[in-house]
Amino acid sequence: MSDLELSGIRKNFGDFVAMHKADLFFEAGKLTALLGPSGCGKTTLLRMIAGLEAPSEGQILLGGKDIASLSAEQRKFGMVFQSFALFPHLNVARNVSYSLRIAGVDALTRRARARELLELVQLADKGNNRIGELSGGQQQRVAIARALAQEPVIFLLDEPMSALDAQLRNDMQMELRLLQQRLGITTIVVTHDQREAMTIADKIVVMSQGRIEQVGTPQEIYHKPANGFVASFIGNANLLDGRATNSGVTLGDTHFAVAERGGFASGDRVTLFCRPEAVRLTEVAPSGNALKGMVTFVRDEGIAREIHLDTGAGHIIAEIPGSFNETIRIGDRLHAEFPVETLHLLPARPAAG
Ligand code: ATP
Repeated sequence: MSDLELSGIRKNFGDFVAMHKADLFFEAGKLTALLGPSGCGKTTLLRMIAGLEAPSEGQILLGGKDIASLSAEQRKFGMVFQSFALFPHLNVARNVSYSLRIAGVDALTRRARARELLELVQLADKGNNRIGELSGGQQQRVAIARALAQEPVIFLLDEPMSALDAQLRNDMQMELRLLQQRLGITTIVVTHDQREAMTIADKIVVMSQGRIEQVGTPQEIYHKPANGFVASFIGNANLLDGRATNSGVTLGDTHFAVAERGGFASGDRVTLFCRPEAVRLTEVAPSGNALKGMVTFVRDEGIAREIHLDTGAGHIIAEIPGSFNETIRIGDRLHAEFPVETLHLLPARPAAG
């Protein structure tokens, strides 16, 4: 098993910078998700790792050795694409063992390996089927088995779930995670789906406009986002503009205490961040860290309710456990309390417009 390291990697297409200069480290045996909106450079980054795109600058190191000069074939990384890219004229087993045939592996070994891989992805009885006879989820498993045929050191997947419907996607996310953990193979998955990244990854690399915004565990990214972009890309976020003080932050004429001030100096423009599920709603004014507001929207999701409030400091969202007994209606006036330990200061957001 080898770590994969990108050092000073950059990619331009003519004048357009698809990936600004960056360093990245992928730990051996772990699953890393490259997460970001459409066009942020995820696929470009994956294609550079795969050897399908040459970096404009920088090194790609596998176990400390520079592999930038190796072609995609020479790297022998396993790849699964969004479209699966299976061969419709070959049966399932032959799809799986295709790369072994190209590599000159004998027929007996090929057949044994295909059987083993189809068992691994729970398709042992489908070896003789045609690709067109399989469901989307089964085709995806064939694509995974095929990519693993040559025992790659690195496993790369580009939006592997996006062609599947929601239920199947959930199942396949779990299957992929279990398979990856069982094999302990260093894996990189491109996705624009934050839930998917949170479900499957040990580490998430959040990207935006060719830049790396944050690298961290799902917990770190969710609870301690580096900036407003990461905070709002990973689920709902309350982001309120204010100024740092010696003990917290002022939002207009309200002062909030925070547990950690980060590196901000008193007077700096900052954004206060709090997840909706941390906000408490009360009828009676709490002693501090609260904003008074009017309910503008209620979304009942059964297990939880999302309550939107307009306050003097901005629009906020609270997520509270669903309950039969309590009714909150549009127009109600409530206090939103922000527990001190759930608040973080982030760099000020760029001015709107
Ligand atoms: P998506 O989720 O939509 O696939 P992505 O995050 O994977 O998006 P990339 O496909 O890496 O994004 O593209 C990043 C940017 O680079 C885009 O603006 C894209 O138009 C541009 N780009 C990608 N490949 C090329 C190319 N061969 N020539 C010119 N521009 C390109």
